[in-house]
Amino acid sequence: TKSVGIIGAGIAGLALAIRLANQGFKVTVFEKNSYPGGKLSELNLNGFRFDKGPSLFTMPGLIDELTSLQGSSLQFKYQKLQVITNYFYSDGTQLKASANIEEFAEEVHLKLNEKKETILKYMKRNAFYFKTTEDLFLKQSLHQLKNFINLKTFKGILFSPFLGLFSSMNKKNINIFSNPKTAQLFNRYATYNGSNPYKAPALMNMISHLEFNLGAYLPNEGMHQITTHLVKLTEEANVIIKYNSKVDTIEVGSNSRIAFIKCNDVNYAFDIVASDVDIHVLYKYLLPKSFTPKKLIQQEKSSSAYVFYWGINKEFSELGLHNILFSDDYKKEFDYLFSKQFPIDDPTIYINITSKYCKADAPEGCENWFVMVNVPHNKNRSITYETDLRKNVINKINTILKTTIEKHIITESTLSPVDIENQTSSFGGSLYGNSSNNKFAAFLRHSNFSSTIKNLYLVGGSVHPGGGIPLCLFSAKIASQLIAEREKK
Ligand code: FAD
Repeated sequence: TKSVGIIGAGIAGLALAIRLANQGFKVTVFEKNSYPGGKLSELNLNGFRFDKGPSLFTMPGLIDELTSLQGSSLQFKYQKLQVITNYFYSDGTQLKASANIEEFAEEVHLKLNEKKETILKYMKRNAFYFKTTEDLFLKQSLHQLKNFINLKTFKGILFSPFLGLFSSMNKKNINIFSNPKTAQLFNRYATYNGSNPYKAPALMNMISHLEFNLGAYLPNEGMHQITTHLVKLTEEANVIIKYNSKVDTIEVGSNSRIAFIKCNDVNYAFDIVASDVDIHVLYKYLLPKSFTPKKLIQQEKSSSAYVFYWGINKEFSELGLHNILFSDDYKKEFDYLFSKQFPIDDPTIYINITSKYCKADAPEGCENWFVMVNVPHNKNRSITYETDLRKNVINKINTILKTTIEKHIITESTLSPVDIENQTSSFGGSLYGNSSNNKFAAFLRHSNFSSTIKNLYLVGGSVHPGGGIPLCLFSAKIASQLIAEREKK
């Protein structure tokens, strides 16, 4: 039996461990933290439970696939959301995005005076784009594909007008919709991979297809259940997870294969090594002597987040699981985010309240608020804005919800880009690896294998096909297929 060492127990590392153990490999995972899940972890605070990172869950079938490939009887239960998001604009407009597209189109017609058919057609077109491109972009290694079809054909597909890589999400949306508020609503999907809708290619408008056509979900016990379920599957498959085990270096031999990895001053040798570590960190710290794909590393990073976890001693009936309080000037917000590298005074605020569904997440009569603002990834650790940000967030919530929220915060914790970097090693605390702010970065991410080190494979949000839970799970699937093809047992 061949052995595999996986560095990092984020969801991509865990999913790869499950797949490889089921392919017959002997798998050991090294995790620097004392807990699994990386960005997908949880926080328990004075009777409140919070999901620390991701809150939006699409394509749950990718988790079910891991359960069933192992023939496991372990349960992973989740529910489909009937209302996806509650939107609040600063002029008082409120909109409920129903999972039922007809109802959603009717609501956008009523509240934003958009033609119902325009919405329905838009959704249909996004479904078509997704179906036409998912095989190409999500289900295989693009980098291997290049070997099968010639490069010219490949570039032809990539840059055909059909894919709309030469227009931005916003350009397309303002052309289609009559009300700028509708364009703003759909532009927001750029933030699902930490990008700028005024720069990201129009093709990325299809992200909304994941929520509206395929559905948005919540595990019955909150998002962290994804991590606990994957860990249970690894245990069942006899994967060893070593916690408090930071891998310091990867030593490559003269035969261009990894000789060993070094962790807590011990050398571990494996036939195959896979990394779930941000590529920036991987090349800079774990492989300092090896060839570095500089162009990829230097791409603009995705945005980060500043999160306030608030225990609130009141219930707000106007809020649901996902709530967006939009900024007035969206273009300015993204200019600040990516050019000025500073959060704007009037930021878009996202409030996630899992206790709306998972009653155990907050004491009776209370709610667990995860309040998030998109902020720049942290290039310069000395920049501080926390105090102003908290004040601005509170003011905006108070104005829109006509409340004095500060009086209702009974417990509080925060997560900054620096915390995200310290806790998960993602460069500058960026949430999704490179941003998709240009057409190359959007689709040409680092491959799922190393081109110079023969037995090294890569998974996770900073490599192909990209960040976010579904894409990380796809990266594990692609890497496991590559390993099955290339590494005979
Ligand atoms: P990570 O979760 O980053 O895990 C990497 C792991 O590797 C970590 O556990 C780390 O400790 C470990 N590690 C790093 N270096 C070493 C080393 N040298 N040795 C040993 N271990 C090491 N996605 C969505 O789909 N929906 C959302 O709503 C969403 N919202 C988000 C909100 C926030 C605040 C954050 C932070 C992220 C959000 N994301 C969301 C993104 C999503 O969480 C990530 O894309 C995904 O969890 C990344 O998983 P991963 O396996 O790539 O890596």
